[in-house]
Amino acid sequence: MREDTIAAISTAYGEGGIGVIRVSGDEAFSVVQKIFTGKLREREMVYGHIRDPRTGETVDEVMACCFKGPKSYTAEDVCEIQCHGSVVSLKKILSLCLDNGARMAEPGEFTKRAFLNGRLDLSQAEAVIDLIRSKTDKSFEVALDQLQGGFSEKIKDLRKRLVDVLVDLTVNIDYPDEDIEEVTYDKLEKGLTGIRDDIAKLLDTADTGRVMREGLRISIIGKPNVGKSSLMNALLKESRAIVTAIPGTTRDVIEEDLSIGGIPVILTDTAGIRKTDDTIEKIGIEKSKEAFNKADLIIFIADLSRELSAEDREILEAAAGRKVICLLNKSDLERKLDEKELRNALPGATFIEASVAKDEGISELEETIKDMVYGGEVSQKSSTIVTNARHEALLKEAKQSLTDAVSMTEMGEPLELIEIDVNQAYASLGLIIGEEVGDDIINEVFRRFCLGK
Ligand code: GDP
Repeated sequence: MREDTIAAISTAYGEGGIGVIRVSGDEAFSVVQKIFTGKLREREMVYGHIRDPRTGETVDEVMACCFKGPKSYTAEDVCEIQCHGSVVSLKKILSLCLDNGARMAEPGEFTKRAFLNGRLDLSQAEAVIDLIRSKTDKSFEVALDQLQGGFSEKIKDLRKRLVDVLVDLTVNIDYPDEDIEEVTYDKLEKGLTGIRDDIAKLLDTADTGRVMREGLRISIIGKPNVGKSSLMNALLKESRAIVTAIPGTTRDVIEEDLSIGGIPVILTDTAGIRKTDDTIEKIGIEKSKEAFNKADLIIFIADLSRELSAEDREILEAAAGRKVICLLNKSDLERKLDEKELRNALPGATFIEASVAKDEGISELEETIKDMVYGGEVSQKSSTIVTNARHEALLKEAKQSLTDAVSMTEMGEPLELIEIDVNQAYASLGLIIGEEVGDDIINEVFRRFCLGK
C-alpha cells in the first residue's frame, strides 16, 4: 500500500545548534530533492542548500541524509534535513516540504508507522515516548530496555508458554479418543499456576513503575526551625530554599524535582500545618496541607535538642496512618527529646538519626527511600519494570483469567471452559505488544507523542 509522505520538525521547538526536519513516505526523496541543491545519496550526509524552487530564494545551508526503507526509522523511505537550529529556518523548510508533496505529520506518526510496518511492536513504540520524557538515569534505562525489546521478550515468552498449554488443551478437546497423552488436570494446573505467578511477579514491579512514571511525592514536614529547609538543600545539594534561624520563615510551599537513586522525586518543603491567624501564613498552610495530602511519603523532622511541643503533636496526629520516615535531626546537640513518645505516636515509621548541618544521616535517608521504592522483588539492577498503565491493566486481566482457569482446573471443570480463560489471557498479553489490537487503542497510544517523533 502506498502511504502518503509526512513531514515534521523533529527537534525541540526553540533555539539550538542544529534543527532536524524529518520526511517519511514513498515520496520522501523526491520531495526533499525538489528543494535541496545537493544530490541525495543513500545513507550519506550531503552538503547543500535549501532553495525555494518557485522563487529561487536560498533558505538555509544544510546537511541532508536519506535512508531507503525498510532500513529506516519508519521502515519507509526517510529523509532528514539538518539545518541551523532557528525556528525561522525550521518552519520555512517544513513549509517547503509541505508545498512540494508532503503533508504535516500527526504527533507520533513516524513511530506509529514504524509500528504499523512491523519494525517495532506496540510496547517498544510506547517506550520511545517514555525515553524522550524520562528525567532520571533509571527511568531512561528502563525505557531503553523496553525499546530494545526486553519487556516484549518477557511477554512473548509468557505467550509461548500459554500456547503450549492451549495446544495440549485443544488436542485433548478435539481428539479425546486418540492415543495422545492426556492432559491431566494436575499438569494443567501446574502449568497455568506457573505462568500466572510469573505475571504476578511482573505486576509486582508496577508500583515502582508508577513512581518512575509520575515521580515520588515526598512532603517534608515539621515545626519551624527543625531543619526542613536545611534537609531540602542537603538533598538538592544546592541552596535553593532560604535557611534562616527565625521560626516561620518558610511560608509557602517550595517544590523541587530531584533524583534519588534514579527515582524521580517531587519534594515539597512545607510551611507547617499548624493553626495560625496570620493571613499570609494561612495561605501557605493551606498549600502545605494540600502537598501533605498528596504525598506518597512523609518525612517528619523532629528536633532532638528540643522537647516535643503541642505543634509536634499536632503534626504527628496528621501523619498517623501515612507512610512516614521520622528524621531525628540535630543529633550533634544536647538531647532533650522524649523519643519514646515519638515512637509510640508513629508505629510503623522508620526512624533515622541525623545531623543535617553536619551532613550525617542524609545518605541513610536516601538509601531508605530507595529501598521503599525498589523494595521487595524489584532489584535496582533490573531493567524490566512495568511502567505503563496500559500494560499494567492488561497484565492484571491476564492474571485474573489465569486465576479463574486455575480454580476451574481444581474443580475439574470441562476443558472447553478452561480453554476460554486461557485464550483470554493469551489475548490480553497480545494486546500489550500490539497483536490484534484495535485502531482505537493504537490511536490512543500515539496521541501521547510529540510532533516529529
Ligand atoms: P526549618 O524552619 O524547619 O526549615 O529549619 P531550617 O532548615 O531553616 O533550620 C533552622 C536552623 O537550624 C538553622 O539555623 C540551621 O542551620 C539549623 N540546623 C539545621 N539542621 C541542624 C543540625 O543538624 N544541627 C544543628 N546544630 N543545627 C541545625
